Amino acid sequence: MSNSKLISYTKISPNKTKSRKHSIDRITPHCVVGQLSAESIGNCFVSPTRKASCNYGIGTDGRVVLCVDEKDRSWCSSNSANDNRAVTIECASDKTAPYEMNNKVYNSLVGLCVDICRRNGKTKLLWIPDKEKALKYSPKSDEMLITVHRWFANKACPGDWLYSRLGKLAQQVTDQLSGSAVSDVTEKEESTQKAFKVKVSTKQLRIRKGPGTNYGLTGAYTGVGTFTIVEKRAGSGSAAGWGRLQSGAGWIALDYVTEL
Ligand SMILES: [Zn+2]
Repeated sequence: MSNSKLISYTKISPNKTKSRKHSIDRITPHCVVGQLSAESIGNCFVSPTRKASCNYGIGTDGRVVLCVDEKDRSWCSSNSANDNRAVTIECASDKTAPYEMNNKVYNSLVGLCVDICRRNGKTKLLWIPDKEKALKYSPKSDEMLITVHRWFANKACPGDWLYSRLGKLAQQVTDQLSGSAVSDVTEKEESTQKAFKVKVSTKQLRIRKGPGTNYGLTGAYTGVGTFTIVEKRAGSGSAAGWGRLQSGAGWIALDYVTEL
């Protein structure tokens, strides 16, 4: 078991149990309740009387601190069974509900989860919002499961702000692990489209700035003739979809054309 290369600071806590007793198949993100730096999060867990720690902390500027090696069990989630199998991450947040986290912290959390999954041989991060189902679930060998502190103690952690985004977090991390981020898929679809010719019989077919009636008019019309469409998209106001003119003039509703 290795540690993340994304760390920018290390402050090992004495509050831990050496050598976790279960392989890593969970990630438990927490809210720190304070917009603390990575250094301050590290300092929170230095005193043995605190009896608490986390594997990683994410400071308010998105920097990551290592507090407990991944091979060791942190004391973070009020649950020995969970912390023996989870990588725990304390994230800088607001001090009051819903314990909002800023973009730098959230994006850093996405990156750290991707890294943890990769190094531990996982291709999917799962979020099962139902506590009973989630805790009963046995992740497959390539699956990582998100768990939350509020399932193990009477706490709001990780706060409603992050809790309501855990589905999105799981999806983003899984997309990055599979290398098929949504934007990549869209680009591929566009580039494999073949151009085709259409016949326009109406004199005044309007040209729009985008694929849908929600886009503005360019003020131009096609006129009667044959045109080449280089891209086709679904969009509002045309059951047949929208076509982008090769000329670069804009988009026309394919409801009013005949494909040749
Ligand atoms: Zn917590």
